[in-house]
Amino acid sequence: MTRKKVKNINLKITADALVQVSAPAKTSLEFIKSWLISKENWLFKNLNKVTLNQQVANQHSKISANTILLLGVPKSLQIVAAPKVQLQVQEDNIVLKLPENKLATHPQFLARELRKFAYQTFQQLLDEFEPLLREHQLPYPNLKIRKMRARWGSCHLFSQTITLNTSLIHAPSECIRYVLCHEFAHLKHFHHRQPFYNFLSQLYPNWREQRNILNRHYKFILN
Ligand SMILES: [Zn+2]
Repeated sequence: MTRKKVKNINLKITADALVQVSAPAKTSLEFIKSWLISKENWLFKNLNKVTLNQQVANQHSKISANTILLLGVPKSLQIVAAPKVQLQVQEDNIVLKLPENKLATHPQFLARELRKFAYQTFQQLLDEFEPLLREHQLPYPNLKIRKMRARWGSCHLFSQTITLNTSLIHAPSECIRYVLCHEFAHLKHFHHRQPFYNFLSQLYPNWREQRNILNRHYKFILN
């Protein structure tokens, strides 16, 4: 925090994800604290954006520690030499193991391994809903993943296939569960009219909250 000859409190996030506050000299610390709390949503969204920008920027740099947002949690990436390609997702870290001769092209391996991880994670989440699907006499859908620009998921009724946006792997798992249930609901109602939402509420009562989190805080992952 810096005290400056400014009229208002200003908030800035630096490229390395530091929050900078400049405030008029006379503003009390208490006031600044409560003002910051009121900016929580903004901070949350923009810190995530910076984290993701860093990730994109670092993909073009040499091997270095950087951060990847995974299931809503920023994790630091470590790249280590090993005989076999492998991605290990730990509590705070992601470890990408690569043979020595592949280290230079690690971004392409990282993208591939993350995609694999996304598919496995989405499939596990889908599997958890098996009893619910059965209870509502819905078919057990096939799962596909794809990078999409404008939507979180889609449902193809004829082939009973649900497609999830690969980028959802950056969002919290509750948000992914909501998207899955939204698509499950389309197995019964093709439209977005009231009966659809009534049915969605049966499948996933908390859907509104998760939809808001996704659309307010994670829209940026679509880019
Ligand atoms: Zn829909």
